[in-house]
Amino acid sequence: MFRFPDLPINVVKPKEPVEAKIVESKICTLESSPNFIRHIVIDVSGTPLVGQFKAGQSIGVVAPGVDADGKPHKVRLYSVSSPSGGEGGNPNLVTTTVKRVVDENWETQELFTGVCSNYLCSKKAGDTLMISGPSGKRFILPENKEECNYVFFATGTGIAPFRAFLLDLFNSGFKGQVALCFGTPYRTDLLYHKWLTELAEKHENFHYFTAISREGRRADGTKTYVQHLVLDHKDVLEPILAADNTLMYICGLEGMEAGIYSNLASMGLYDYMKPGKNILDKPNTEWTWSDFKENVKPSDRTMVEVY
Ligand code: FAD
Ligand code: NAP
Repeated sequence: MFRFPDLPINVVKPKEPVEAKIVESKICTLESSPNFIRHIVIDVSGTPLVGQFKAGQSIGVVAPGVDADGKPHKVRLYSVSSPSGGEGGNPNLVTTTVKRVVDENWETQELFTGVCSNYLCSKKAGDTLMISGPSGKRFILPENKEECNYVFFATGTGIAPFRAFLLDLFNSGFKGQVALCFGTPYRTDLLYHKWLTELAEKHENFHYFTAISREGRRADGTKTYVQHLVLDHKDVLEPILAADNTLMYICGLEGMEAGIYSNLASMGLYDYMKPGKNILDKPNTEWTWSDFKENVKPSDRTMVEVY
């Protein structure tokens, strides 16, 4: 039922990156936020990458300079947030959604700024950079995308591929059901929120739900995470998830995956997961949260990119 295309990867290899140009770089959080996240438009014209990046794939970026061991920096991957035909239908333009990684080393109390995310977010229109790709073969839409339904789970910049998927779906008149569950720390951190809200208003078959983790608490005192939306919006999500032609996609922080399986299992929706051999001797109704975390893997109907 689900047929996936065999997309070309590494048309440009990370060891031989090509020069591309930044066309635009703008903050894409809902309001000013302590998290700096940018929608970055890159022009790949004149390179073998024209028209190559498809929704769900990633761009390789190589920051200049060397790491602590004196070796050239390794390539970092950034998900494509533009549709498969290129941003605005222009195959020369590919976009991504990048968060500046800023951290404090708890032991030394030194400020740590991630190498590549800060390199990329400091680039301005007209600047050049070295890129490779595409990367990724599995986290993509099926060939027969119009015959399926979708439930997407994103945390933070994990929204990037879903912007691309939604553009691919609705640019080609998608009539099935698609739901997006999006989690961020604060309301200010919601990415592409205005566009997503308008898309949901325009298309009855698109359902957009958000989980804001650090504002308010659930009745049991815990934070609201994306996996809770399965329960909070059961009326909408359960029928979509129960359909045979639905695919589930998860992108962002690793922690959400087990929580999603666990909540789906509580609704009897086991088709999205595969038990590891360590728990096959237990009835699935007795699986614990740690079973989901350690022994349950995605099934063929679940696409996962978490870190
Ligand atoms: P690095 O310099 O690589 O540091 C990474 C982490 O190491 C830091 O967060 C920090 O916690 C820790 N660290 C290392 N050294 C120290 C130190 N001395 N002190 C304290 N902490 C330290 N990111 C996005 O923003 N958008 C995307 O669309 C996106 N898509 C991705 C797609 C894929 C398939 C993958 C695998 C990753 C994706 N990422 C994305 C993550 C991205 O590739 C990078 O990992 C991220 O930007 C961090 O890279 P960096 O070079 O800025 O940080
Ligand atoms: P962020 O803005 O910090 O948002 C993450 C949200 O997830 C927060 O609300 C956080 O809540 C919540 N969260 C924390 N633990 C969770 C759990 N166990 N279950 C569910 N939700 C949980 O996110 P970010 O900094 O952008 O990080 C996104 C991650 O995705 C990065 O690691 C990035 O590398 C990765 N990424 C991967 C891809 C890809 O593979 N294609 C693409 C883009 C991004 P609290 O912090 O309040 O607890």
